[in-house]
Amino acid sequence: MAKIVLIGANHAGTAAANTILDAYPEHTLVIFDGNSNISYLGCGTALWIGRQIDKPDGLFYASKDTFTAKKAEVYMETEVKRIDFTAKQVYGVTKTGKEISESYDKLIIATGSLPITPKIKGLDLPQVCYVKRFQDGQHINQLLDQGDIKTVAVVGAGYIGVELAEAVQRRGKEVLLFEAATTSLSTYYDEWFTQDMDKVLKDKGIALHFGELVQEVTGTDKVKSIITNKGEYPVDLIIMAIGFRPNTGLAAQDLETFSNGAYKVNLKQETSKPDVYAIGDCATVYSNALGTQAYIALATNAVRSGVVAGHNAGGTPLESVGVQGSNGICIYGYKMVSTGLNLKAAEKAGFTPLYTQFEDTQKPAFITEDNHTVKIRIVYDKTSRRVLGAQMASYQDISMGIHLFSLAIEEKITIDKLKLLDIFFLPHFNQPYNYITMAALSAK
Ligand SMILES: Cc1cc2nc3c(=O)[nH]c(=O)nc-3n(C[C@H](O)[C@H](O)[C@H](O)COP(=O)(O)OP(=O)(O)OC[C@H]3O[C@@H](n4cnc5c(N)ncnc54)[C@H](O)[C@@H]3O)c2cc1C
Repeated sequence: MAKIVLIGANHAGTAAANTILDAYPEHTLVIFDGNSNISYLGCGTALWIGRQIDKPDGLFYASKDTFTAKKAEVYMETEVKRIDFTAKQVYGVTKTGKEISESYDKLIIATGSLPITPKIKGLDLPQVCYVKRFQDGQHINQLLDQGDIKTVAVVGAGYIGVELAEAVQRRGKEVLLFEAATTSLSTYYDEWFTQDMDKVLKDKGIALHFGELVQEVTGTDKVKSIITNKGEYPVDLIIMAIGFRPNTGLAAQDLETFSNGAYKVNLKQETSKPDVYAIGDCATVYSNALGTQAYIALATNAVRSGVVAGHNAGGTPLESVGVQGSNGICIYGYKMVSTGLNLKAAEKAGFTPLYTQFEDTQKPAFITEDNHTVKIRIVYDKTSRRVLGAQMASYQDISMGIHLFSLAIEEKITIDKLKLLDIFFLPHFNQPYNYITMAALSAK
């Protein structure tokens, strides 16, 4: 019987906790979390702000009670301030200032990530918001209810910024979307796709300020304007969404870290110290596309890493199979999904990538309802011909198709292997000359 201490009980921590409590009830589990709630699905923030769902109640899937019912000891609103790795002891402080100390045999760190807060003048004004926790969603919601908030700047056109721009526009506000890159979603998608997303946003009246770098926010007690390298724009509220950094202040000085400060872990989620695991957004993941460690902060990766660490800490050796960074987005009904590397990312990683693409309706032309155009691009390596990534977009729900490419990347499948892959045909679903087959067949 071992004593396992878990620091952080959001998506990664909750997965680790449930794995340990369900599969290894013989162990003692002690959980710390600095927040008053856990398991908040941040993906629901935009849906809730944009009133596509009425209330946030369904955005939680675990609580302190979930774990205490399974006999864990849980300290909520208790932040761990220090870890003594030699004495195997963690030290926390409750909301009321009470000090708590617990010893451990195994330690799992799941402290997640924090929004990147750039050093820009004026970002300390009260109408500048960040998007991460449930409380952040509540705060933005309250501000948007105020009649004097008419124009909102969203800074960052990654998936969270784009989702928030849609949500705020749905609340009847003027939206200006600022982005240093020249398109939205440039991390995951090539321009062939982002040009469509940019048009979707523009057609809904969102003012796109791409290729603009925010330099200053003006105002004394209230936000007055936002200044970029290209101009000054009067705004009432600013939502910052320029990305996340791993929250590793607690142990970065004691554990080996990645270039961005994330805890370096192996396939068992083990850190550089024995009996210490790191999971979720505070840790690296193994990218099968890159063939090396990377930082990809996603709830899906967090949950899987939690399961892996839970089993290893519980006593069953288990290795992660790595990840592809599979992701999706749906804006005003337009859906984009991708996995692995886009063309730019593949070039940056040192590959000589080629791509093949195809565009067609999902179903045969004689199906006149619910039959939308689908775009697909497959990126592969010129030398090894290994599939490196895939992107798809449509108003159709084509999301499940991307998982095939996720597995192809994980299993190092070549583009040629996909050419004659057995893909079924039924007009209710797809075409006899399927766009996956057609794209693969036309690969050079
Ligand atoms: C708006 C938004 C939308 C998103 N949408 C998606 C999506 O659609 N799909 C997807 O896959 N991912 C999405 N993500 C990313 C996803 O939410 C994160 O990858 C995920 O939350 C990571 O989980 P985690 O448990 O590793 O870390 P976190 O969620 O950051 O949780 C860390 C936990 O640790 C606690 N903690 C931190 N430090 C301490 C300490 N010292 N002591 C005690 N407790 C501590 C915190 O209170 C927190 O509960 C979204 C994120 C946001 C913000």
